[in-house]
Amino acid sequence: MTEPKNASAEAVADPNKPLKDLTDMQTMVSLCKRRGFIFQSSEIYGGINSCWDYGPLGIELKYAVKDAWWKNMTRQHDDVEGVDASILMHPRVWEASGHVENFTDPLVDCKKCKARHRADHLKPVKALEEKLGHLPSIEEMTKALEGANCPSCGSAGTLTPPRLFNMMFKTYMGPVADDANIVYLRPETAQGIFVNFRQVQETMRRKLPFGIAQIGKAFRNEITPGNFTFRTREFEQMEMQYFVTPGSDAAAFEKWKTERRAWHSSMGIRNSKLKFHEHGPNELAHYAKQACDIYYEFPIGWQEVEGIHNRSDYDLRRHTEFSGKSLQYTDEAANKFTPYVIETSVGCDRFVLAVLCDAYRANEDRVVMKFHPSLAPYKAAVFPLMKKDELVGPALKIYEDLRKTYKVDYDAAGSIGKRYRRHEEVGTPFCITIDYDGVADQTVTMRHRDTMAQERIPMARVQQYMEDAFKNWKME
Ligand code: ATP
Repeated sequence: MTEPKNASAEAVADPNKPLKDLTDMQTMVSLCKRRGFIFQSSEIYGGINSCWDYGPLGIELKYAVKDAWWKNMTRQHDDVEGVDASILMHPRVWEASGHVENFTDPLVDCKKCKARHRADHLKPVKALEEKLGHLPSIEEMTKALEGANCPSCGSAGTLTPPRLFNMMFKTYMGPVADDANIVYLRPETAQGIFVNFRQVQETMRRKLPFGIAQIGKAFRNEITPGNFTFRTREFEQMEMQYFVTPGSDAAAFEKWKTERRAWHSSMGIRNSKLKFHEHGPNELAHYAKQACDIYYEFPIGWQEVEGIHNRSDYDLRRHTEFSGKSLQYTDEAANKFTPYVIETSVGCDRFVLAVLCDAYRANEDRVVMKFHPSLAPYKAAVFPLMKKDELVGPALKIYEDLRKTYKVDYDAAGSIGKRYRRHEEVGTPFCITIDYDGVADQTVTMRHRDTMAQERIPMARVQQYMEDAFKNWKME
């Protein structure tokens, strides 16, 4: 018999050859499409700008992220409750929140090439902002852009004066499309938490401080979406609003900053790729007293992934005012006051993109997605070395056993080297191969994704082995 005797018959790939990080987003777009992570939306119709669909492996990754965040918030913290509010809300909510008035970006069009830009992102406006120390007014922007060049076609003096554009998506409730029936798709999930503050506090008999967590879709009619799933018009947020007594807000803000950054690390993101960005007074949103972002170093540079904000008593005060229903809190000493809010808001899709970018390592021979095992779409892949009944039987038995606990792939087609490569590229931590020696002595070969090391262990120990390895996993 000329068949190879064991699973070490791997196509040549040198474990010592260095792997490099991701350097451009297009490589990630291609990998995601090729391996079933993320597809362009409505692709058979030519796609729709900046809309994306998660494929079979992408949705596994996204659910794992949501699950980790939800468990962290509502299990590891015993003072956080969950809600799931509706996307369509009473239109007065968005007047109270300040979004009708303030949720705008300044927009300019090029009369020649029709390109659309955010005025505050254009060089002359940025230079003026630096000089003034605050965001210029619309009049100041208009002046600064007179005779300016369009960044897309280079023509001078072709930009329209900036106009404020509200980013909320509008639609009509019911069959009559008139102003009385306007509703908005929520631009953030936070307001669904604030309007439920009283009901959650009372039904769960909560005392301050406590938090409310929510995962859900948000919609923003962004002027310049792009960079894959980094900025889209429909996206998911994972938000937690923590209600505190005024005066204890600064300490709670610091506590959540530390906790949230630790969570990003616990998901396997390298510390060297994470940093805080504190907002200066000119950067603060209309509701914020203090703000700090967690930045990740994407191939497009350092960018915000999560915002942590001290929203003061702005939201509950405004909803009390606009609804006429008190959202005040009475403490044990019978003092009545409006709670302060510390918000942690992470874009789920943007975080998934950070996980994908961070996991990517490659050289000419191989692409390896070094996901933390808790996020890896498949936890293992089971291969019979060859498609022979003596090997297929035991391999399928292991697969069926593992499938009860983990998402596992079974693959019997093609060379063993190709099968390893495919699973490295989707970040599967272990490949388990059954060969003739293994059938004889009831062992399998466990191949480690990150080191390519192979270890022979008893078949009966596979599950325990994986469980232990996942518990003690060391990221690079
Ligand atoms: P940016 O400055 O990038 O527009 P923001 O400061 O307006 O973001 P927040 O309102 O604080 O963002 O939203 C919280 C989080 O939601 C962000 O940190 C980001 O991860 C995510 N997010 C916001 N807008 C988008 C978008 N258009 N596409 C994808 N994720 C987004």
